[in-house]
Amino acid sequence: MKVFKFGGASVNSIERIQFLPQILHQYKNDRLLIIISAMGKTTNALEKVTECFYGGNKEEALLLFDAIKQQHLTTAKYLLVTQFNACIEKLADFFTEVEWLLHDKPVRAYDYYYDQVVCIGELLSTVIVSHYLNEVQIQNKWIDVRDILRTDDNFRDASVDWAYTQKKVTEVFGNWGQGNSNTPSICITQGFIGSTDENESTTLGREGSDFTAAIFANLLDAESQTIWKDVEGVMSADPKLFEEAVFIGALSFEEVIEMAYYGAQVIHPKTIKPLQNKGIPLHV
Ligand code: ASP
Ligand code: MG
Repeated sequence: MKVFKFGGASVNSIERIQFLPQILHQYKNDRLLIIISAMGKTTNALEKVTECFYGGNKEEALLLFDAIKQQHLTTAKYLLVTQFNACIEKLADFFTEVEWLLHDKPVRAYDYYYDQVVCIGELLSTVIVSHYLNEVQIQNKWIDVRDILRTDDNFRDASVDWAYTQKKVTEVFGNWGQGNSNTPSICITQGFIGSTDENESTTLGREGSDFTAAIFANLLDAESQTIWKDVEGVMSADPKLFEEAVFIGALSFEEVIEMAYYGAQVIHPKTIKPLQNKGIPLHV
């Protein structure tokens, strides 16, 4: 089985989402676990909602959240026909969860609220993409990653409980990766988020979806992990700044870690270790 990760830019518009089947059709014979980020700049927008809420500005928070809501509803409306109602129903559950929270007064730490609000971005994007793919006959199963990926309660920078998560992965996926399962060959879940043993949502740190993909690649013994981006690959420098930048065909794990350490925005630095430990190649 393979792990794919699609970032925010890859699901940022109706056209982008409609492009996904073209990619997936090339992998008809594979089992794919697809990790998806929030659409476009949704995470930033949800951060603003949390700031307003925590600053006591409830009306503004609700207004900002409504804009996010409308954007997702519009996307769903344009993409879906047969799956529209089912999708809207699921989206509405998540909207309600946030709105309830926003109506309360904050009594806990900021980081706790941040995670409860910000995690919605990935839940919304995966619900839309999953319904869209089902609509175009690419059968898939949507999974709430919070039922599997257990973390501590260090909100906004939670650490993964590897042992518990491994147990859950085995329970949920069984022999799916080996092809012996009634579960569709494509499963879709969220990057960046997890949950505590008290079912509170957590996040793994900004840009954490690459890391989520690596966690699953490790625990499922994937043959590879692919990060799909809106650029053609890894380059020796930022082409906007350096004309002489060239594509790099292959890098060792050590070289990638070094590049990330010195600030290259190629891959989330935490991503490498889980892959390196099992010798799983990473494609960009
Ligand atoms: N949506 C999250 C962020 O923007 C996680 C990710 O994109 O990897 O940071
Ligand atoms: Mg992103």
